[in-house]
Amino acid sequence: MPRPIGARIDLAALRHNYLLARRRARAQEPGARAWAVVKANAYGHGLLRAAAVLGEVADGFALLDLDDAVTLREAGIRQPILLLEGFFEADDLAVCAAHRLSVVIHRIEQLQMLRRTALPVRLPIYLKFDSGMHRLGLNRQQLPAVRRELAELTAASLLGPVTLMTHFAEADAAGGASCIAWQLDRFARIIADWPEAADLPLSFANSAAILRYPQTAHAWVRPGIMLYGGSPFADQDAASLGLQPVMTLYSRILAVQEIEVGERVGYGGTFVAPRPTRVGVVACGYADGYPRHAPTGTPILVAGQRTRTLGRVSMDMLACDLTDLPAAAVDSPVVLWGAGLPADEVAAAAGTISYELFCALARRVPVVEV
Ligand SMILES: *Cc1c(COP(=O)(O)O)cnc(C)c1O
Repeated sequence: MPRPIGARIDLAALRHNYLLARRRARAQEPGARAWAVVKANAYGHGLLRAAAVLGEVADGFALLDLDDAVTLREAGIRQPILLLEGFFEADDLAVCAAHRLSVVIHRIEQLQMLRRTALPVRLPIYLKFDSGMHRLGLNRQQLPAVRRELAELTAASLLGPVTLMTHFAEADAAGGASCIAWQLDRFARIIADWPEAADLPLSFANSAAILRYPQTAHAWVRPGIMLYGGSPFADQDAASLGLQPVMTLYSRILAVQEIEVGERVGYGGTFVAPRPTRVGVVACGYADGYPRHAPTGTPILVAGQRTRTLGRVSMDMLACDLTDLPAAAVDSPVVLWGAGLPADEVAAAAGTISYELFCALARRVPVVEV
């Protein structure tokens, strides 16, 4: 018998969350379309699994790796596919053309590569501007050079449809609309001297912006974490946003230890029993993707009841407190996160975000779809 651990992926919830994201965007902008962001193996949920269920409804798929884009095409995905970091070298362009990919352009050099390669098809391009996050994007000083390159591409009949894009650094922060207003201001200033820009479609919003600042929903929105049922916000839970959990990481109790006051649990003995304690040992550890830095007190469900972890997380196991759960015993079902225990709560206890928990799900954990 294999270890009793697994991850359940709720496909109907994924679809529900996608449709909710698009509905939110369309309430603001009736023609809005939504890229399903499926980078990082669909945030750990499985690229092809996500594509299979979203393939029926999604307007397009956004990801990073050229190979993943080709995988989606080979799986029969016909919608637009957007490479969020664009192509990395000129040699990638033939593949982009063969598979009709849309590409983000965040450096002038990418426009130059496009011009010199003279592809037989005109790729849709997403000009990404750096409005203050200072990660990827073109800036105001580069705008004249961008416009020159666009003019040359146009003259050579090489320019495909252009969309303008930027990314918010703190749409998830508490603090209201000022968290995005400064970036919208900078974006407006970047394109202020470019009259034609006013007619181009825009793509701004990630999950946080879709949910909290629907005024940023334009031609295309880019929901990621919300598709997977995670809340982008520290101060608002996923259920209150209408989102449904997609991934449930589950396991079972492997062993139960009854320990005396003052006895210690796990590596380093960081948990010291303040009372006689029933310790449940769960078949799940950091090699399964559970965060090693989750401290004593991280929430966990045993037999449907909430309790807390005890001591350090080991590679293959972790401990939890069964003292107040007399019915819990060897083989009792455990939920590490998902249905009944929001991943966001576990993540917050461990000082991280649900994005990281989902992406870290280890390959050795068997996945079942429901
Ligand atoms: C990952 C990513 C998104 C999705 O962000 P979420 O916070 O997960 O909604 C959107 N746009 C870009 C450019 C991204 O890299």
